[in-house]
Amino acid sequence: MHEGCSGSFDNGKQVVDKIRMMGFSAQYMPVPLNITCVDCGDDFEMEKFEGKCPKCDMVYGVTPCHAFDPDNVMAAGKDY
Ligand SMILES: [Zn+2]
Ligand SMILES: [Zn+2]
Repeated sequence: MHEGCSGSFDNGKQVVDKIRMMGFSAQYMPVPLNITCVDCGDDFEMEKFEGKCPKCDMVYGVTPCHAFDPDNVMAAGKDY
């Protein structure tokens, strides 16, 4: 699962591109993460490796090997 993952990304778009490419974006994380949206400040629960703020449609992504910590979730942009 960690293969090919450098663990460092410049931005959320790279994370989302990566998990989409690897087929993880629609898969559920072992433990849902509570995210505070960087754009609207709303709290929401992210259940899959790719998530979306229900209020403002900001898209978030995290790689499976780093999904243990909400700090690793990165915003990719609205409706990315
Ligand atoms: Zn990694
Ligand atoms: Zn939001």
